[in-house]
Amino acid sequence: MSMNQSVLICDQVAPILNDILQKNGLKVSYEPEITAEQIKEKIGNFDIVIVRSRTKITKEMIDKALKCKLIARVGVGLDNIDTDAATAKGIRVINAVEGAMNAVAELVLGLMLSLAREIPRADRKIREGGWPKKDLMGIELSGKYLGIVGLGNIGKKLARHARALNMNIIGYDVIPIPDDFTREVGLVKTDIDTLLSSADFISFHVPLTESTYHLVNKEKLSKMKKTAYLINTSRGEIIDEAALLQALKERKIAGAALDVREKEPDPSSDTAVGSELTQLPNVISTPHIGAQTKEAQVLAANVIAEKIIMILRGVI
Ligand code: NAD
Repeated sequence: MSMNQSVLICDQVAPILNDILQKNGLKVSYEPEITAEQIKEKIGNFDIVIVRSRTKITKEMIDKALKCKLIARVGVGLDNIDTDAATAKGIRVINAVEGAMNAVAELVLGLMLSLAREIPRADRKIREGGWPKKDLMGIELSGKYLGIVGLGNIGKKLARHARALNMNIIGYDVIPIPDDFTREVGLVKTDIDTLLSSADFISFHVPLTESTYHLVNKEKLSKMKKTAYLINTSRGEIIDEAALLQALKERKIAGAALDVREKEPDPSSDTAVGSELTQLPNVISTPHIGAQTKEAQVLAANVIAEKIIMILRGVI
């Protein structure tokens, strides 16, 4: 394929992506604020379409994408692209799985430490003029059992980080976890129910699929220890939030940290979806910032630029 391709970038991405593509002779239209209606009008003119999180590439858009050969997501999950419709039309869909590994794993460490030491509450109380030292008896991560559900890119990265904090790692995945990796981090492989009933912190790193939708439900939550904490930085829909709310209110588990939610506002919005869950004292939440680091965005942009060029050169 020639390098003389037209590219539509629909979301805000690190400038390096635009630079690399242009240097390689591609014609780039950078339209980070483009609306769905405008995409439908213009998509027919482009060979390659690039999105991050804000834009949803629907079947209706794909039907109008007469020249398009490639859709790229500068991120990991592909749930904002109708991949079935794209594949049916022979359009290749690529993502940047490598970009977010470290950023998400580090966020999980931050969330675990925040849960263990109630750092957000300490800060809030001091702002209100308090000095809540007596109430803030925390726990340490060292020596605790971290259960990781999903040992892919992010799960593995988290295991390595947590090992450095002297945590014991228990892991569950639907595919075999490589032995050299289990030896490296001292991971004990187990089934999901044993993991849920024995871990002190449980972190989820699975994709959203039919089989992971509401993977964490009332029955699974009932297996967790009363002292255990749940962390979700994967996709909101893997947890039945109504069941989680109940378990937290009744103190059946100690707490939860959530970077992702079952219902999230549009990524361009700065207003939260109101919820009883995020108001609970034993919940810490962040607005889907897992991959939101400068380093992760630059890495993902580089990965996508490189993949596009390799594809055009026929190398991959
Ligand atoms: P990955 O594909 O490398 O790993 C996912 C792992 O989950 C695989 O090993 C897979 O076998 C396993 N898995 C699938 N179904 C399972 C099940 N039912 N039970 C146990 N394991 C199962 O993906 P990744 O790059 O590690 O990303 C993991 C998740 O993190 C994805 O959902 C992604 O969308 C999400 N993510 C979130 C953010 C954020 O901003 N919070 C950023 C990047 C990625």
